[in-house]
Amino acid sequence: MKEKRKKEPALEITGLIDSPRWKHIRCCCSQDVRDVLHRYPIQNCINCKFTIAENSIPSKPFTVNGKLITKIKIVRGKKYEDIIGWEF
Ligand SMILES: [Zn+2]
Repeated sequence: MKEKRKKEPALEITGLIDSPRWKHIRCCCSQDVRDVLHRYPIQNCINCKFTIAENSIPSKPFTVNGKLITKIKIVRGKKYEDIIGWEF
């Protein structure tokens, strides 16, 4: 049986690195979920902050002003090698 499926184009991401500096900084949040005062975002936790930034990278092509974006370039901070944003 032949399956007809529309093939979705993949998003090409440049600037991904294996082991950015910030990943070596441990999460310093309280492990008690009720301890809100000592958890991100009240607690200034670099690991949690940059994990959220990393998870915000799109994984599929997206449209901006009617134009399909299929390639992005990650923009990183110099100090922590964290994700500041992306260019397309
Ligand atoms: Zn944390």
